[in-house]
Amino acid sequence: MMKYFILFGPPGAGKGTQATAMVEAYNLRHISTGALLRQEISAGSELGLKAKALIDAGALVPDEIVEGMIESEFRTVKGVDGFLLDGFPRTIEQAKALDRMLAANGEEVTSVVSIMIPDSMIRERIHHRATIEGRADDAKDETISNRIATYHNQTEPLVEYYSKAGKYNEIDGTGTIDDVRKAIFDLMDRF
Ligand code: AMP
Repeated sequence: MMKYFILFGPPGAGKGTQATAMVEAYNLRHISTGALLRQEISAGSELGLKAKALIDAGALVPDEIVEGMIESEFRTVKGVDGFLLDGFPRTIEQAKALDRMLAANGEEVTSVVSIMIPDSMIRERIHHRATIEGRADDAKDETISNRIATYHNQTEPLVEYYSKAGKYNEIDGTGTIDDVRKAIFDLMDRF
């Protein structure tokens, strides 16, 4: 059975940072829908053009777009023990679509690894990342505010969705990178 880990948490929680260590230690393929969308933007594709306006506004791109990206990764990537989904699902609809995609092959989500930080830390972390990565959506305060609101309104309901499914595991993301990684590995070792 392939493993399907979901890396969950608000923007700035450290998902991208931890993902690198996680995929290496557990032979997973890292799928970041945000990174895939940013690739489309730099390539200047039609999809990228459509996504850019929404990303710059701090809104979500349509479910069908990211679901298609995820499906094509599942179909084409070989030679791994599983997948680490970073930034997907972000809506209940996406979570249901993922469940359907996996069930069609007799598979299911293995576990949700949720890195939690308080709202007060989100801005600080994003401002810090802006100086390192130069992401357009990290630069404007208004965009950041909208992303935080989007997270609370559309993505946070997934906590209940996956808790009910018995798959939700929360990790305190306020510690050092090493502390958080250790807590994540302790959790992943159980699967
Ligand atoms: P991220 O790199 O995960 O912070 O994503 C950056 C931006 O890409 C988000 O603010 C959204 O606009 C868009 N995005 C990434 N993943 C998704 C998703 N699963 N559903 C909708 N929009 C997404």
